[in-house]
Amino acid sequence: MIELSHIVKTFGDHTVLNGISVTIREGSVTALVGPSGGGKSTLLRCINLLEIPTSGRVRIGAEAIDFRPQVRVPFAEVQKLRRQTGMVFQNFQLFPHRTALGNVIEPLVTVLKWPHAKAVARAEELLDKVGMAHKRDAWPAELSGGQQQRVAIARALAPSPRVLLCDEPTSALDPELAGEVIEVLVGLAREGTTMVIATHDLRLAAGIAHEAVFLEAGEVVEKGEARRIFSAPERERTQRFIATLT
Ligand code: ADP
Ligand code: MG
Repeated sequence: MIELSHIVKTFGDHTVLNGISVTIREGSVTALVGPSGGGKSTLLRCINLLEIPTSGRVRIGAEAIDFRPQVRVPFAEVQKLRRQTGMVFQNFQLFPHRTALGNVIEPLVTVLKWPHAKAVARAEELLDKVGMAHKRDAWPAELSGGQQQRVAIARALAPSPRVLLCDEPTSALDPELAGEVIEVLVGLAREGTTMVIATHDLRLAAGIAHEAVFLEAGEVVEKGEARRIFSAPERERTQRFIATLT
């Protein structure tokens, strides 16, 4: 359902993604692992088009765009693809001047122009799903990191994206707070939410991923079934990296 074909991303003369091809099945969880600077965040940003690939093809469901160097894709097309995705960031990125509920209704009211009452009903349902219904009127500053990230997950899910993209969702959290975020992601995985998660957290990656992609220096070193990659990687480079994860 999601297909990345030969994705290249360059910044100036620095090639950050060097022809990445990955297929993501509907309902599956894919872990993106690999050393810092390997291109995980850039690849996620090329899926939701926060970064425009230099070349290659991004397909999400029925929507696809072919990118070519120097050819500008119309914004409406970018937006159509982007709306198939939801994104969760390492540092939560909640709107500080909106309550938990206000954050979750934001994309529904502002982007999708839903009526307020319908957006509130949807937001309440999602806050409940992430265990944050009791904090609906709290400000982000009043919430722990784990609580903020759970609200951020609810916000990302609000417009019913076809894929949830998570960039190091637990990296800013101590283990206990990371645990409550992992629990939410595990629940979503069980319900068949399609997710791509960049992470250094072996508890998260090995716990919920079906597929794993090991990315280094903009290249796929190894990809396949997560259980196999984490327990018996084929490539020596992958073995060494997995051994460093905690
Ligand atoms: P990871 O998430 O695996 O740590 P990133 O995708 O953040 O890797 O970064 C991959 C490489 O791309 C790094 O060398 C980084 O410096 C470079 N990079 C990322 N974003 C930009 C940018 N906007 N401009 C220039 N270089 C960038
Ligand atoms: Mg990153």
